[in-house]
Amino acid sequence: MIIDCHTHHPAPDAKAVISTSPVGFRPSEGQAWSVGLHPWDLDLFCDSSFRIKEEIWSELVMAAAAPGVVAIGECGIDMVRGGLLAAQMLAFRKQALLAERLRKPLVIHSVKAHDIIVGLKRDINPQMPWVIHGFRYKPSIAEMYLKEGCYLSFGEKFNTDSLLITPHDKLLAETDESALPIEEIISRLESASGRPLREQIIDNSKIFRINNI
Ligand SMILES: [Zn+2]
Repeated sequence: MIIDCHTHHPAPDAKAVISTSPVGFRPSEGQAWSVGLHPWDLDLFCDSSFRIKEEIWSELVMAAAAPGVVAIGECGIDMVRGGLLAAQMLAFRKQALLAERLRKPLVIHSVKAHDIIVGLKRDINPQMPWVIHGFRYKPSIAEMYLKEGCYLSFGEKFNTDSLLITPHDKLLAETDESALPIEEIISRLESASGRPLREQIIDNSKIFRINNI
């Protein structure tokens, strides 16, 4: 049972999906992982022509196919800290296609790149769920993603109006880098929205299934 769809805390937690690069992937029994290339780290993972280095890509493909890996990501586009846009788009598209090939959801980091992510979604037309993680933007941005069928994952910082317009079946929760436990984050989401959310979040998190291939 997953309840925290995205964390960077490395401690084993059977209720969380631990997000890491292929370099930090340490498979262990019963632990769910998502593996991907974060836009902040592309300088490390790409060569001088901005393509993902071959050895990194094969490490990612190998890790991504492991049964404990329940999603690809986080990957994404960050217009503030992410470096050259063309390189970010190439890396993102490649990972989105890998998620399709392996039939696993995609966990997305998007900072000031909402139009670009929506454009890529229309272009790629994925069958697998796309999850916008750490969603803290205003309702008009939430609507953009929801219209495209994306899931929104809320963490410690969130916009209450956006939470209120997110349909029950598209809502996820995460700790990311927060020191707060997931149960505390969920109870803050519940008091902000005035409705119970925990069971629904667990149900929605079934998109992340160990051995889902
Ligand atoms: Zn993260």
